[in-house]
Amino acid sequence: MSEFDVIVVGAGPAGSSAAIKMASQGLKVLLVERGDPVGSKNVSGGILWGNDLASIIPDWEKSAPLERYVERKVTSFLTTDSEIAIDFKTKKFQEKKTGYSVLRTRLDSFLARKAAQAGAMVVTGVTVDSLAMKDGRVIGVVNEGETITADCVILAEGPNPRVAMAAGLVGKPNDRTVGIGVKHVYKLGENVINERFNLRGNAGFAGEYVLSFLEGDVYAGGFLYTNKDTVSMGVVITWQP
Ligand SMILES: Cc1cc2nc3c(=O)[nH]c(=O)nc-3n(C[C@H](O)[C@H](O)[C@H](O)COP(=O)(O)OP(=O)(O)OC[C@H]3O[C@@H](n4cnc5c(N)ncnc54)[C@H](O)[C@@H]3O)c2cc1C
Repeated sequence: MSEFDVIVVGAGPAGSSAAIKMASQGLKVLLVERGDPVGSKNVSGGILWGNDLASIIPDWEKSAPLERYVERKVTSFLTTDSEIAIDFKTKKFQEKKTGYSVLRTRLDSFLARKAAQAGAMVVTGVTVDSLAMKDGRVIGVVNEGETITADCVILAEGPNPRVAMAAGLVGKPNDRTVGIGVKHVYKLGENVINERFNLRGNAGFAGEYVLSFLEGDVYAGGFLYTNKDTVSMGVVITWQP
Protein backbone atom coordinates (compact mmCIF):
# COMPACT_ATOMS: atom_id res chain seq x y z
CA MET A 1 0.00 0.00 0.00
CA SER A 2 1.53 3.33 -1.08
CA GLU A 3 1.72 6.36 1.23
CA PHE A 4 0.19 8.62 -1.45
CA ASP A 5 -1.98 8.21 -4.53
CA VAL A 6 0.16 10.77 -6.36
CA ILE A 7 3.43 12.59 -5.74
CA VAL A 8 3.93 15.75 -7.80
CA VAL A 9 7.53 16.95 -8.13
CA GLY A 10 7.71 20.73 -8.54
CA ALA A 11 5.24 23.42 -7.47
CA GLY A 12 5.42 25.61 -10.56
CA PRO A 13 2.16 26.37 -12.39
CA ALA A 14 2.12 22.87 -13.95
CA GLY A 15 2.73 20.94 -10.72
CA SER A 16 0.39 23.00 -8.55
CA SER A 17 -2.36 22.84 -11.19
CA ALA A 18 -2.06 19.05 -11.30
CA ALA A 19 -2.11 18.91 -7.48
CA ILE A 20 -5.18 21.17 -7.23
CA LYS A 21 -7.07 19.12 -9.80
CA MET A 22 -6.25 15.74 -8.26
CA ALA A 23 -6.62 16.74 -4.60
CA SER A 24 -10.01 18.27 -5.33
CA GLN A 25 -11.06 14.89 -6.79
CA GLY A 26 -10.26 13.31 -3.41
CA LEU A 27 -6.85 11.80 -4.22
CA LYS A 28 -4.14 11.79 -1.56
CA VAL A 29 -1.53 14.10 -3.09
CA LEU A 30 1.98 15.10 -2.01
CA LEU A 31 3.37 18.22 -3.74
CA VAL A 32 7.15 18.53 -3.29
CA GLU A 33 8.97 21.80 -4.05
CA ARG A 34 12.71 22.41 -3.65
CA GLY A 35 12.30 26.18 -3.38
CA ASP A 36 11.35 27.85 -0.12
CA PRO A 37 9.18 29.84 -0.47
CA VAL A 38 7.35 28.32 -3.41
CA GLY A 39 8.19 30.28 -6.56
CA SER A 40 11.68 31.29 -5.47
CA LYS A 41 13.23 29.06 -8.18
CA ASN A 42 10.96 30.21 -11.01
CA VAL A 43 12.24 30.87 -14.53
CA SER A 44 9.97 33.41 -16.17
CA GLY A 45 9.87 36.88 -17.63
CA GLY A 46 6.51 37.31 -15.99
CA ILE A 47 3.56 37.31 -18.39
CA LEU A 48 0.78 34.81 -17.92
CA TRP A 49 -0.90 34.38 -21.31
CA GLY A 50 -4.27 32.77 -21.89
CA ASN A 51 -7.16 31.79 -19.73
CA ASP A 52 -6.18 28.23 -18.85
CA LEU A 53 -6.28 28.76 -15.08
CA ALA A 54 -10.06 29.21 -15.37
CA SER A 55 -10.51 25.46 -15.72
CA ILE A 56 -8.79 24.94 -12.35
CA ILE A 57 -9.66 28.09 -10.38
CA PRO A 58 -12.88 29.53 -11.85
CA ASP A 59 -12.51 32.93 -10.11
CA TRP A 60 -8.74 33.20 -10.75
CA GLU A 61 -8.94 36.69 -12.27
CA LYS A 62 -10.38 37.98 -8.99
CA SER A 63 -8.37 35.90 -6.54
CA ALA A 64 -4.91 35.42 -8.12
CA PRO A 65 -2.14 37.97 -7.48
CA LEU A 66 -2.17 39.52 -10.97
CA GLU A 67 -0.23 42.73 -11.57
CA ARG A 68 -1.56 44.42 -14.76
CA TYR A 69 -3.38 43.16 -17.85
CA VAL A 70 -1.43 43.55 -21.09
CA GLU A 71 -2.95 46.44 -23.01
CA ARG A 72 -0.12 46.93 -25.49
CA LYS A 73 2.45 44.46 -26.79
CA VAL A 74 5.52 45.57 -28.69
CA THR A 75 8.03 43.32 -30.45
CA SER A 76 11.18 45.24 -31.41
CA PHE A 77 14.17 44.41 -33.55
CA LEU A 78 17.13 46.45 -32.38
CA THR A 79 20.39 47.30 -34.10
CA THR A 80 23.05 49.49 -32.49
CA ASP A 81 21.37 52.64 -33.74
CA SER A 82 17.90 51.67 -35.02
CA GLU A 83 14.69 49.96 -34.05
CA ILE A 84 11.90 48.40 -36.08
CA ALA A 85 8.89 47.57 -33.94
CA ILE A 86 5.57 45.80 -34.28
CA ASP A 87 3.35 47.72 -31.92
CA PHE A 88 0.18 45.79 -31.19
CA LYS A 89 -2.73 47.35 -29.36
CA THR A 90 -6.26 46.08 -29.74
CA LYS A 91 -9.54 46.75 -28.01
CA LYS A 92 -9.77 42.99 -27.51
CA PHE A 93 -6.94 43.22 -24.94
CA GLN A 94 -9.21 45.47 -22.88
CA GLU A 95 -12.44 43.55 -23.40
CA LYS A 96 -11.08 40.04 -22.98
CA LYS A 97 -7.92 40.04 -20.93
CA THR A 98 -5.53 37.68 -22.70
CA GLY A 99 -2.37 38.30 -20.71
CA TYR A 100 -1.41 39.51 -17.24
CA SER A 101 1.95 40.46 -15.81
CA VAL A 102 2.71 38.43 -12.69
CA LEU A 103 5.41 38.15 -10.07
CA ARG A 104 5.93 34.43 -9.99
CA THR A 105 6.89 34.14 -6.33
CA ARG A 106 3.43 35.48 -5.51
CA LEU A 107 1.58 33.54 -8.22
CA ASP A 108 3.30 30.22 -7.46
CA SER A 109 2.70 30.65 -3.71
CA PHE A 110 -0.97 31.38 -4.43
CA LEU A 111 -1.30 28.21 -6.55
CA ALA A 112 0.45 26.06 -3.93
CA ARG A 113 -1.90 27.46 -1.26
CA LYS A 114 -4.84 26.49 -3.48
CA ALA A 115 -3.39 22.97 -3.72
CA ALA A 116 -3.14 22.80 0.08
CA GLN A 117 -6.72 24.10 0.42
CA ALA A 118 -7.85 21.38 -1.98
CA GLY A 119 -6.29 18.83 0.39
CA ALA A 120 -2.78 18.25 -0.99
CA MET A 121 0.15 18.01 1.40
CA VAL A 122 2.65 20.66 0.28
CA VAL A 123 6.29 20.43 1.37
CA THR A 124 8.83 23.11 0.46
CA GLY A 125 12.61 23.23 0.63
CA VAL A 126 12.81 19.53 -0.29
CA THR A 127 14.55 18.35 -3.46
CA VAL A 128 13.55 15.04 -5.01
CA ASP A 129 16.80 13.30 -5.93
CA SER A 130 15.46 10.49 -8.09
CA LEU A 131 12.56 8.19 -8.84
CA ALA A 132 12.21 5.12 -6.62
CA MET A 133 12.02 1.98 -8.77
CA LYS A 134 11.05 -1.63 -8.02
CA ASP A 135 10.84 -4.44 -10.58
CA GLY A 136 11.04 -1.89 -13.40
CA ARG A 137 8.13 0.17 -12.02
CA VAL A 138 8.11 3.64 -10.49
CA ILE A 139 6.98 3.26 -6.87
CA GLY A 140 7.70 6.76 -5.57
CA VAL A 141 10.51 9.27 -5.12
CA VAL A 142 13.78 9.41 -3.19
CA ASN A 143 14.94 12.31 -1.03
CA GLU A 144 18.25 12.03 0.84
CA GLY A 145 18.13 8.24 0.71
CA GLU A 146 14.55 8.00 1.96
CA THR A 147 11.80 6.61 -0.26
CA ILE A 148 8.29 8.06 -0.25
CA THR A 149 5.87 5.79 -2.07
CA ALA A 150 2.99 6.62 -4.41
CA ASP A 151 0.90 4.84 -7.04
CA CYS A 152 1.72 7.60 -9.51
CA VAL A 153 4.49 10.23 -9.81
CA ILE A 154 4.13 13.39 -11.89
CA LEU A 155 7.36 15.17 -12.79
CA ALA A 156 6.69 18.90 -13.20
CA GLU A 157 10.28 20.05 -12.77
CA GLY A 158 10.23 22.82 -15.36
CA PRO A 159 13.11 23.63 -17.70
CA ASN A 160 15.81 21.85 -15.67
CA PRO A 161 14.34 18.35 -15.29
CA ARG A 162 17.15 16.57 -13.49
CA VAL A 163 15.01 13.71 -12.15
CA ALA A 164 13.52 13.03 -15.60
CA MET A 165 17.00 13.20 -17.18
CA ALA A 166 18.48 10.81 -14.61
CA ALA A 167 15.62 8.38 -15.34
CA GLY A 168 16.32 8.62 -19.09
CA LEU A 169 12.88 10.11 -19.78
CA VAL A 170 14.26 13.24 -21.46
CA GLY A 171 17.59 13.86 -23.16
CA LYS A 172 20.38 15.95 -21.72
CA PRO A 173 20.54 19.59 -22.90
CA ASN A 174 23.26 20.63 -25.33
CA ASP A 175 24.83 23.99 -26.23
CA ARG A 176 22.08 24.72 -28.74
CA THR A 177 19.23 24.24 -26.28
CA VAL A 178 20.44 26.18 -23.25
CA GLY A 179 20.93 29.88 -22.64
CA ILE A 180 21.85 32.27 -19.89
CA GLY A 181 19.23 34.66 -18.62
CA VAL A 182 19.32 37.55 -16.19
CA LYS A 183 16.21 39.23 -14.83
CA HIS A 184 15.76 42.11 -12.45
CA VAL A 185 12.62 43.67 -10.98
CA TYR A 186 12.96 47.44 -10.53
CA LYS A 187 10.72 49.45 -8.23
CA LEU A 188 9.56 52.62 -9.98
CA GLY A 189 6.21 53.38 -8.35
CA GLU A 190 2.76 53.16 -9.91
CA ASN A 191 2.51 56.80 -11.02
CA VAL A 192 5.94 56.83 -12.67
CA ILE A 193 5.09 53.64 -14.59
CA ASN A 194 1.74 55.03 -15.74
CA GLU A 195 3.40 58.26 -16.86
CA ARG A 196 6.38 56.69 -18.65
CA PHE A 197 4.41 53.98 -20.43
CA ASN A 198 1.29 56.07 -21.00
CA LEU A 199 -0.91 53.69 -19.01
CA ARG A 200 -4.02 54.04 -16.89
CA GLY A 201 -5.50 51.95 -14.10
CA ASN A 202 -4.33 48.35 -14.25
CA ALA A 203 -3.39 48.44 -17.96
CA GLY A 204 0.13 47.25 -18.69
CA PHE A 205 2.86 47.13 -21.32
CA ALA A 206 4.73 44.08 -22.59
CA GLY A 207 7.87 44.68 -24.66
CA GLU A 208 10.00 41.97 -26.22
CA TYR A 209 13.27 42.77 -27.99
CA VAL A 210 15.39 40.91 -30.52
CA LEU A 211 18.99 42.09 -30.25
CA SER A 212 19.78 41.91 -33.98
CA PHE A 213 23.12 43.72 -33.67
CA LEU A 214 24.98 40.75 -32.21
CA GLU A 215 27.53 39.08 -34.45
CA GLY A 216 28.75 35.53 -34.83
CA ASP A 217 26.85 32.66 -33.26
CA VAL A 218 25.39 34.64 -30.36
CA TYR A 219 21.63 35.26 -30.27
CA ALA A 220 19.85 37.25 -27.60
CA GLY A 221 16.54 38.76 -26.68
CA GLY A 222 15.22 40.96 -23.94
CA PHE A 223 11.92 41.74 -22.27
CA LEU A 224 10.35 44.55 -20.30
CA TYR A 225 7.03 44.04 -18.54
CA THR A 226 5.18 46.49 -16.31
CA ASN A 227 3.85 45.32 -12.97
CA LYS A 228 1.77 47.44 -10.56
CA ASP A 229 4.66 49.47 -9.17
CA THR A 230 7.69 47.63 -10.57
CA VAL A 231 9.02 46.64 -13.99
CA SER A 232 10.48 43.22 -14.83
CA MET A 233 13.45 43.45 -17.21
CA GLY A 234 15.68 40.72 -18.52
CA VAL A 235 18.04 39.46 -21.20
CA VAL A 236 18.52 35.90 -22.44
CA ILE A 237 21.60 34.92 -24.46
CA THR A 238 22.27 31.72 -26.38
CA TRP A 239 25.28 30.53 -28.31
CA GLN A 240 24.43 28.40 -31.32
CA PRO A 241 27.55 27.41 -33.25
C1 LIG B 1 13.98 33.35 -19.68
C2 LIG B 1 12.60 32.75 -19.67
C3 LIG B 1 11.50 33.59 -19.63
C4 LIG B 1 10.22 33.05 -19.63
N1 LIG B 1 9.16 33.90 -19.58
C5 LIG B 1 7.92 33.40 -19.61
C6 LIG B 1 6.79 34.27 -19.55
O1 LIG B 1 6.91 35.48 -19.47
N2 LIG B 1 5.56 33.70 -19.59
C7 LIG B 1 5.40 32.35 -19.66
O2 LIG B 1 4.25 31.89 -19.68
N3 LIG B 1 6.44 31.52 -19.68
C8 LIG B 1 7.69 32.00 -19.65
N4 LIG B 1 8.75 31.16 -19.67
C9 LIG B 1 8.51 29.74 -19.63
C10 LIG B 1 8.25 29.37 -18.17
O3 LIG B 1 9.41 28.82 -17.61
C11 LIG B 1 7.09 28.40 -18.11
O4 LIG B 1 5.96 28.95 -18.75
C12 LIG B 1 6.64 28.01 -16.70
O5 LIG B 1 7.48 28.41 -15.66
C13 LIG B 1 6.54 26.51 -16.75
O6 LIG B 1 5.91 26.09 -15.57
P1 LIG B 1 6.27 24.69 -14.96
O7 LIG B 1 5.38 24.51 -13.78
O8 LIG B 1 6.28 23.64 -16.02
O9 LIG B 1 7.80 24.81 -14.52
P2 LIG B 1 8.47 25.79 -13.46
O10 LIG B 1 7.71 27.04 -13.31
O11 LIG B 1 9.91 25.88 -13.80
O12 LIG B 1 8.31 24.99 -12.09
C14 LIG B 1 9.09 23.86 -11.79
C15 LIG B 1 9.21 23.78 -10.29
O13 LIG B 1 9.77 22.53 -9.95
C16 LIG B 1 10.70 22.71 -8.92
N5 LIG B 1 11.64 21.58 -8.99
C17 LIG B 1 12.45 21.27 -10.03
N6 LIG B 1 13.13 20.15 -9.77
C18 LIG B 1 12.73 19.74 -8.54
C19 LIG B 1 13.08 18.63 -7.72
N7 LIG B 1 13.97 17.71 -8.14
N8 LIG B 1 12.51 18.51 -6.50
C20 LIG B 1 11.60 19.44 -6.07
N9 LIG B 1 11.23 20.51 -6.81
C21 LIG B 1 11.78 20.66 -8.03
C22 LIG B 1 11.34 24.06 -9.24
O14 LIG B 1 11.94 24.63 -8.08
C23 LIG B 1 10.14 24.85 -9.73
O15 LIG B 1 9.48 25.55 -8.70
C24 LIG B 1 10.05 31.66 -19.66
C25 LIG B 1 11.16 30.81 -19.69
C26 LIG B 1 12.41 31.35 -19.70
C27 LIG B 1 13.58 30.41 -19.73
